[in-house]
Amino acid sequence: MARAWHLKSRPKGMPTSDNFQLKPVDLLPLDYGMVRVANRWLSVDPYMRGRMNDVKSYVPPFAIDAPMEGGAIGEVVESKADGFSPGDRVLHMAGWRDEAVLPAAALNPLPNLGVEPQAFLGNLGLTGGTAYFGLLDAAQAKEGDIVFVSAAAGAVGSAVVQIAKANGMTVIGSAGGAEKCDFVRSLGADEVIDYRARPLVKSLAAAAPKGIDVYFDNVGGDHLDAALAHARNNARFAICGMIDGYNAAEPTPLRYIMRIIAARVRLQGFIYTDYLPRLGEFYGDMGGWIASGQVKSRDTIVEGLERMPEAFLGLFSGANTGKMLVKV
Ligand code: NAP
Repeated sequence: MARAWHLKSRPKGMPTSDNFQLKPVDLLPLDYGMVRVANRWLSVDPYMRGRMNDVKSYVPPFAIDAPMEGGAIGEVVESKADGFSPGDRVLHMAGWRDEAVLPAAALNPLPNLGVEPQAFLGNLGLTGGTAYFGLLDAAQAKEGDIVFVSAAAGAVGSAVVQIAKANGMTVIGSAGGAEKCDFVRSLGADEVIDYRARPLVKSLAAAAPKGIDVYFDNVGGDHLDAALAHARNNARFAICGMIDGYNAAEPTPLRYIMRIIAARVRLQGFIYTDYLPRLGEFYGDMGGWIASGQVKSRDTIVEGLERMPEAFLGLFSGANTGKMLVKV
């Protein structure tokens, strides 16, 4: 019998394993146009924390006692749809479970870019695409810019560091702890900041004595504040995520917010899915950088559907380096 994680209750603050329940699920009938898929790789992403709240956002909240959703790579095991055959690898949104029967329209065949299928949940998927469009489009980053990126050892952040280096930018990355900082340096970052070791405003002053042209925000809070403190005139900020606030009762006050005026800072929020019509451009550039070795992937892999909540909760304590994935 297929099993899926359900949202048992809505968390207040940091979620716990008690908010999730793994239960058997009935699959849809395998009628004409339907495909049975066995999931191989499941994605856990910080945005899923927002879907656990009953609030209006750019994606609807998870319903209580209903199966959860998320990015997944599966293998077709049975098909009654034209164009899909057993053995095909597909990307879809019926994650948090081991098996699903889905209409063909819900499945995306993986382009042949010579990579492992799970790359389409990472550097060739949501996180890599977020880095690519956020840096090059939302922030309009260009050769010669000084770029600061937070959560630089994570999935999006590690892609930002490498895309920025591939495009001739100077990169400062922040991460929690010496080991993660070594990883960020190994990706080509010019300067790294261990935000747990010293106050950020001072660390960023030392790492970027001329200030920053671009900030790629994955964290919000003190990181955003430090970036504002050191923004050069006409700096561009890509506001990608604010993980520091996802479980917080109150937002962190921003002491340097008025720098937006003096330095004429442009803040641009963005959502990856807005860029889906431009996926071809992303696959072309990113596929090329991966093939040439300019962009490398590192995954943190948690084995077993049973451990999915553990993998998800680990995102908020920094348990991952690179992309956090669950192998079914
Ligand atoms: P990730 O960076 O791989 O994982 C989260 C990392 O954030 C952790 O490993 C941890 O690294 C850091 N972190 C957690 N809590 C923190 C805190 N309170 N302060 C500072 N750092 C903290 O996750 P991701 O999937 O790449 O996502 C990164 C950000 O992008 C998230 O904010 C996410 O919501 C956002 N995002 C936005 C879009 C979009 O369309 N706008 C799409 C995808 C992702 P350390 O150990 O270094 O602290």
